[in-house]
Amino acid sequence: MEDLQASILTWKGGVVLVWFAAFFIAERWKPAAREQPEPLAHEDARPLGAWSRVGRNLGLWVANVGLSPLVVVPLTLWASEQALDWRPLWWSGPAGLLLDLMILDFLIYWWHRANHEIRFLWRFHEIHHLDRFLDTSSALRFHFGEVLLSACARAAVIILLGIPFFSVIIFEILVLLSALFHHSNLRIGADTERLLSRLIITPSIHWVHHHAVRRDTDSNYGTIFSFWDRLFGSSSKTERWSDMPIGVERTEERRFLGLLIRPFSVRQAPPAAENQL
Ligand SMILES: [Zn+2]
Repeated sequence: MEDLQASILTWKGGVVLVWFAAFFIAERWKPAAREQPEPLAHEDARPLGAWSRVGRNLGLWVANVGLSPLVVVPLTLWASEQALDWRPLWWSGPAGLLLDLMILDFLIYWWHRANHEIRFLWRFHEIHHLDRFLDTSSALRFHFGEVLLSACARAAVIILLGIPFFSVIIFEILVLLSALFHHSNLRIGADTERLLSRLIITPSIHWVHHHAVRRDTDSNYGTIFSFWDRLFGSSSKTERWSDMPIGVERTEERRFLGLLIRPFSVRQAPPAAENQL
């Protein structure tokens, strides 16, 4: 098992990188939506190319790549060593792994929902939502504060439920592959997507989560499986259309440094509160 874990960790980066490259190329070859030019901040502003958005997303990702070996992986390993030993014998092997994946996806659904419903968590998660268009690079765009908070929440789950490190790594790989897929701008046949969406989160479901209308932003929280939203009443009725506005209602995208400091800025009335009136 130790050898298997080591080789899965080694392969994780490679598999994710190949998956990312495949979707990044495919969505430019067969896009579902056309990206509009970035609006200028003022009349004399220099026009920004489509790559500036991708550059911001990859910039935020690079900061997180640095955090991974320094904080996220050591914290996850430490939590696995402290995990409470209460699991029955039957909760092991392939069936145990499947159960772990279901539980972790159920919990990530609620963690994502908490990121929208708790104002402090939204400050960090909002940086992901401020992207004004979506493609595979959006799946890597998270503020380092959200990554650290998620790592702490995950450590608590690992300790309390005694989730093995192996299950956590398999889940992480599936989350990354799923996120790269459902953020992508790849055009998929309507019938294929409808069939897939019965079980997993597809681009049409997740793009509605990024619709710049707060009611839709606060819906479709699923990451891998699509049935949690149906089960807990958070599915949006909105159907994705090709030039659907993406982002956060009444809030503008920021430059790279602006995104890094935004969660720590003092704000008076967040859009969520305004809309609930
Ligand atoms: Zn979200």
